Amino acid sequence: MKTFDIAGRVALVTGASSGLGEHFARLLAAQGAVVILAARRTDRLEKLASQITAAGGKAHPVSMDVTSAASVEAAFVKIAGLGLVPGIVVNNAGIAQSKPSIELTEADWRSTMDTNIDGAWRVAQAAAKAMLAARQPGTLINIASILGLRVGANLLAYTTAKAALVQLTKSLSLDWARYGIRVNAIAPGYIETDINRGFLASEGGQAMIKRIPMRRVGQAGDLDGASLLLASAAGCYMNGSLVVVDGGHSNSTL
Ligand code: NAD
Repeated sequence: MKTFDIAGRVALVTGASSGLGEHFARLLAAQGAVVILAARRTDRLEKLASQITAAGGKAHPVSMDVTSAASVEAAFVKIAGLGLVPGIVVNNAGIAQSKPSIELTEADWRSTMDTNIDGAWRVAQAAAKAMLAARQPGTLINIASILGLRVGANLLAYTTAKAALVQLTKSLSLDWARYGIRVNAIAPGYIETDINRGFLASEGGQAMIKRIPMRRVGQAGDLDGASLLLASAAGCYMNGSLVVVDGGHSNSTL
């Protein structure tokens, strides 16, 4: 459908070196977008960029540590140097740590917050400034989680950061609509990636899967519809929305 067309658009994906970020990058490139692959592990980004190019797509690897303001700034300078302004931004970089809340250290708390919420804010603001300077509209897609809407045991910093990301999405949608920038979020349920493979294979993980109404965990491709909806003109009146993609999990016990 024409309204889902993103061919020729410039898309930035953070945390593109693995998991969902890598998948989003391949998806957007396959739909004709010029994709900027951002993460810390540039060797993986270079490999991914070559694979995308070999498949007929366009991709540029850019080193970015979202926990560092200087690194985010340097990445946007590099992107500008390529003559590109991202119009689609997937704020995907994130970490998860499972630990009893009573044992959480200052460093544990800080690293989760720094990556999952501060990092998302840094990238969102840098991208919005670039769009404004280029007088170009855009769309931001924050990868939240159903754990930003409800809680799970031993995931205090993660659930708190993802809840903050939901609020960040809503607040920015209010503040930046005037610039032609839409800000939305996807709240995935459990999608099988490196972040949770160990847990999903465990006894607790297997028991949890039985509580998902659709009786299976998600695969990265299950997020394609929501991603393209928010990225394209098909979602042109969506702003501040949270799209839950979880097989019904948020309606059952965790
Ligand atoms: P993953 O561990 O495979 O990917 C996370 C990515 O973020 C990696 O590429 C990693 O290198 C990158 N990253 C981490 N810290 C970074 C930093 N400081 N700077 C730049 N990049 C950094 O896990 P995933 O499942 O693909 O997770 C992607 C996003 O989706 C995360 O935000 C996660 O919270 C969210 N999410 C995942 C699930 C799931 O079930 N997999 C569910 C809900 C939300």
